[in-house]
Amino acid sequence: MKSKDALGSALKRIEGKGYKAYKDIQGSYDFKEFELHIDYVQGDPFAAPTRVRLRVPQKRARFPQALFSSRVRRTALEDYLTREFGEAVQRGVKRSRGTGKSGMIFIDTCGQEILQRTSMVITPDYVEARVSMGLPARGRRVLAREAADMFFKELPMLVREALLHESLDSEIITVHVEGNEDQDFLRGELKKLGLVSFVANGSLLPRKSGVSDLPMDREKVVLFSSPPELQVELQLPNAGRVKGMGIPAGVTLIVGGGYHGKSTLLRAVERGVYNHIPGDGREQVVTLEEAVKIRAEDGRRVEKVDISPFINNLPFRKDTVNFSTEEASGSTSQAANIMESLEMGVQLLLLDEDTSATNFMIRDVRMQSLVSKNKEPITPFIDKVNFLYKDLGVSSIMVLGGSGDYFDVADRVIMMDEYRALEMTARAKEIAQKYQTKRKPEGGGEFGEILHRIPLKKGLDPTRKGKTKISARGLYSLQFGRQEVDLSFVEQLVDESQTRAIGDILYFSSHLIDGRKTLKEIIEITLEQIEKQGLDLLSPYRGQHPGEYALPRKYEVAAAFNRLRTFHIR
Ligand code: ADP
Ligand code: MG
Repeated sequence: MKSKDALGSALKRIEGKGYKAYKDIQGSYDFKEFELHIDYVQGDPFAAPTRVRLRVPQKRARFPQALFSSRVRRTALEDYLTREFGEAVQRGVKRSRGTGKSGMIFIDTCGQEILQRTSMVITPDYVEARVSMGLPARGRRVLAREAADMFFKELPMLVREALLHESLDSEIITVHVEGNEDQDFLRGELKKLGLVSFVANGSLLPRKSGVSDLPMDREKVVLFSSPPELQVELQLPNAGRVKGMGIPAGVTLIVGGGYHGKSTLLRAVERGVYNHIPGDGREQVVTLEEAVKIRAEDGRRVEKVDISPFINNLPFRKDTVNFSTEEASGSTSQAANIMESLEMGVQLLLLDEDTSATNFMIRDVRMQSLVSKNKEPITPFIDKVNFLYKDLGVSSIMVLGGSGDYFDVADRVIMMDEYRALEMTARAKEIAQKYQTKRKPEGGGEFGEILHRIPLKKGLDPTRKGKTKISARGLYSLQFGRQEVDLSFVEQLVDESQTRAIGDILYFSSHLIDGRKTLKEIIEITLEQIEKQGLDLLSPYRGQHPGEYALPRKYEVAAAFNRLRTFHIR
């Protein structure tokens, strides 16, 4: 390792030279307080920025072992330091220092969830921030003095403000870490209690706006409180006792008038598969990890999915056991989304009438009389939802303000009334008795089989014009070779860094495709490897940190495979 003075003199030497001269500074430098590793130097001021790691020995950083003694704690601390680092950059880094990306310092950004990430690494020996830097230039000439300012003033400032325990508020860190641990604990308790989701009293569910995931202003909010019939009390490892609504396994309806908060509750449940930061409002809303939001998604591609439990006798005898289409309809896409989730091992389906195909959800008695069963390919969800639970143990939570026919099949009815949750099961069952629908169940005597598909290598080509090209283009779009994978309707994808990881997982796991392993096996093996070796494993660039990955769930990985237009199944 070179001394930091060596970096200083190297910079002096290249002042005013062509940008490529920056390549000279690649290497590791001892800054006393920390090590600076310049792993990769960008080729020009507009190119992908320079990759550096700031590694602070624990001797100096001094984070108490207890803050990273388990996976869940370490993830929370890494998340917290990433946020602090990002904020220190916002506060103290002078951005414009010349052409292109000159002067910028960047660390991955975090949203409302606490996800496993590659932006920060904490071990008993060190804390390491993985950062990108735009090395300053005027035109294509090296601006060494500006660069020296970044290396010798800004980086040490960032280390001091964000990577030393003594500079941070240890109470806030503790809440962050312990909160994350409590959420994992809660999720673990659900199964034991026969619950699929838990919403703590006092939770703040609505968001600031349709495009913001931040909590709504407190003054405007009705905080959540459980109906007494569904209230459970749990003992958390850190926060002590907590009370809230436990949604039991089985079939649950969320009903209520329009604009009374049904979708907001469901969305919080959906996001409960992830842990949230303190202050989010949903940091004690947890859902089984194995929960998937299901919606209609017309236009999506479907590759050899068995949708026959829901769809049969299509015109022209189109196969529904090996159903393929370049452009699914509302109902067929919703059926495929369910079957693909079942293939991956889902335990809880979440549906909202706002985003469901009506003819997939219900066929009432009048329609049954007019259009006979042999002219209707769709078996509506209402006729399968109980079999899903009885045969496969798969629960459902559905937002349905529009159809009381579901009272017959519901184990539980929750009503939202001016943002307050009420338990209405008995009342709904009484009404179902009083106004019998006389509709005929059309679902047969069982749910039907879940087939496992075997992917082929064909079509999983990550290259474009001879070069590997995999990248996230925003949260909902993935570039994979020549293909663009549209993930707009994959609603539990929450972070662009997950999208980025998914892109590389598609490529990485394609090596496992052997014509025998199922899609589920391939994805699970890959995620297990990541679990053991970390997300760094995915990076195609050796010797360069992959600082912008966040861990996706297997369902979102499968969703990307399933939406890749060149994906092939045996
Ligand atoms: P629904 O699905 O029943 O039609 P939504 O869940 O879409 O209703 O909620 C309607 C509006 O009310 C949204 O703008 C939402 O942000 C707001 N809202 C939802 N829950 C609450 C709450 N607990 N307190 C205040 N506003 C809320
Ligand atoms: Mg709604």
